[in-house]
Amino acid sequence: MPGLKDIWVVIEHSDGTMKPVSMEAVHAARQLSSKSGGQVTAVYLSDQGGDDVKAVSRSGVDQVLLIVDPQLKTYISSRYLDALVGYMGDSSPSAILLPATNHGKELAAGLAAKLGSGLATDCVGLDYSESSGIKVERPVYGGKALSSLEFSGSEPVIITLRPNAFRSDTAGEFNEAPIVEYSPKWSEKSLLLHLQEVVKGVGVLDITEARIIVSGGLGMQGPENFHLLEELAEVLGAAVGASRPVVDNGWRDYSNQVGQTGRTVAPDLYIACGISGAVQHLAGMSSSKCIVAINKDPHAPIFEVADYGIVGDALKILPILTREFKKSVQT
Ligand SMILES: Cc1cc2nc3c(=O)[nH]c(=O)nc-3n(C[C@H](O)[C@H](O)[C@H](O)COP(=O)(O)OP(=O)(O)OC[C@H]3O[C@@H](n4cnc5c(N)ncnc54)[C@H](O)[C@@H]3O)c2cc1C
Repeated sequence: MPGLKDIWVVIEHSDGTMKPVSMEAVHAARQLSSKSGGQVTAVYLSDQGGDDVKAVSRSGVDQVLLIVDPQLKTYISSRYLDALVGYMGDSSPSAILLPATNHGKELAAGLAAKLGSGLATDCVGLDYSESSGIKVERPVYGGKALSSLEFSGSEPVIITLRPNAFRSDTAGEFNEAPIVEYSPKWSEKSLLLHLQEVVKGVGVLDITEARIIVSGGLGMQGPENFHLLEELAEVLGAAVGASRPVVDNGWRDYSNQVGQTGRTVAPDLYIACGISGAVQHLAGMSSSKCIVAINKDPHAPIFEVADYGIVGDALKILPILTREFKKSVQT
């Protein structure tokens, strides 16, 4: 793979706003292109253009490909796939990056199958060299090891990126990139599937997107005490996270799990309550900007990474924090 052609980033958006994870994918693509020389194209599929597409064009990409059609109003994988592959024709990119979200993973698998391309999922590292082309790193064996992979075969290669693994600390100022519009042509088959209804979880913040996370471990003693975390989370506009044994015990859903075999998070504030700080938990949250730990044991390893520590019973401290934050929010 001597030098890359285009690198595409498929932008995920919801309610007319680009998801933060797509900004990370753009950042990763820019880093890759600085080594490989390829251009970065953001691919935005929607029923309309608008302010969000303008924002994408100012995110540091070289161009935006706006695939626009009323049939793309809501995400349907077969339609998105047909639209993407339909555009490609002779102008196929060298690599397609997508976020490792539910939609991103589904699209990536479909693209790889349709194009007969190599697919690397849930990557946490991305590199390029002239001798071996694109190289990725991804966790394997339940997160116990990292595997390093190179691609063989034809382009484009398909890569999904783990949320929060490619965050940029600097928000750059970029010129507006050109926006190229394309209207897909549908086959009868593309339009066979119809979406009846989208049912959204009410008030559930995704931990990979939350700026504040209040997280609970076995020290919370049981599922009946997690309302203490939820109450604090509500006051702070935070999401609730959990350690793996909490999830294994069925106290919380897997989508809440932080760590090596759960989600990687990097919020501005992470409040760890009754979490010991095992290395597998730290692997998923140690990039948080500010870590507060509440633990009964002053020697708990979590205090080694915490910016602020409270030694005490989380079940007693949490209601006090909630009460005090409520007061300061009201004043
Ligand atoms: C391959 C592999 C992958 C793993 N992946 C993950 C992962 O993704 N995420 C993850 O979290 N773990 C993971 N683990 C498990 C990890 O090793 C730890 O076992 C786990 O993180 C411990 O969870 P915990 O801190 O909730 O529980 P514990 O280690 O039991 O800690 C509970 C803490 O609560 C404190 N405590 C008790 N009562 C109170 C109280 N009333 N108030 C305040 N503090 C109190 C205790 O002092 C203790 O520090 C993995 C393990 C392996 C082997």
